[in-house]
Amino acid sequence: MTGWKARVRVALCGAYKYSGAMWTHESLARLFGHRFMTILLFHRVTDVIPEDGLTVSTTRFRQMCAMLAKRFRVVPLSEIFRIVRAGEPMPPRTLAITFDDSYHDNLNACRVLHDHGLPATFFLPTSFIDSQRVFEWDRGLPPMPNLTWNDVREMVRLGFEIGSHTVTHANLGIVSREQAWDELIRSKQILEDQTGQPVRWFAYPFGGQHHLRPEYVPLIAEAGYEGAVSAFGGFVTPGLDNRVLPREAVPYFRSLAHLELYLAGCLNWLYALKGRTSNELARNPWPYGEHARAEHHSLT
Ligand SMILES: [Zn+2]
Repeated sequence: MTGWKARVRVALCGAYKYSGAMWTHESLARLFGHRFMTILLFHRVTDVIPEDGLTVSTTRFRQMCAMLAKRFRVVPLSEIFRIVRAGEPMPPRTLAITFDDSYHDNLNACRVLHDHGLPATFFLPTSFIDSQRVFEWDRGLPPMPNLTWNDVREMVRLGFEIGSHTVTHANLGIVSREQAWDELIRSKQILEDQTGQPVRWFAYPFGGQHHLRPEYVPLIAEAGYEGAVSAFGGFVTPGLDNRVLPREAVPYFRSLAHLELYLAGCLNWLYALKGRTSNELARNPWPYGEHARAEHHSLT
């Protein structure tokens, strides 16, 4: 996006928010029954590479956390599942925070979240922990180390929840049933052995519509998980299949006001006009799931 366009967008978002239009818009939407919650998906918080669809700078992450703590009701992932499954009315501005993929910078992100009193769940592919393994999409980038098991235990000590993201970051859309089962149960066992905590939730790698075969979905509960999350589909709304809830990858926003408007649901109409709604994305899955999705949804 060119500089003047970015400045205009920031100015419009600020005007929308501070004029009271955002509040009116939100109130009317709720009055007419538009209710939703959000499960946010982060990957890395680092200054080693520029911000992109997977990367938030450390400064921006601190700003985001301060805004989320002040302007939203941030709850544990389990609370989102509980509200959905109980069929309770979805409270306004309610969201959960999740991270995928075991980047070492997640430990510092934990400390920032902790400073702001924000809960979060971290989904880890166990074979990457304490290893030099590099994700396929990171080849050619500056080194970004993985978490160690000591880091993971420190995250648990700080009060954060660990979930499974398989052992090998496997694409469950193409592996055999036996392999899918092995990825599900072995990762859970390893995480529980290493942390001493129950592992309740599962995030399937790549997270797109075609990265989890429908016939494998029952395996998630059979393996002992209480639920799973994808990486597409946008906001959590009433009537969804509550075994696998959607997440909203955190895009790169030019301003906090823009992010707040987006998470408050005030920009749905705009993205609908642009044909960039979450439903649109779900119908047109992307080749690399969560990663290309994040790029696709980047608002720069
Ligand atoms: Zn992943």
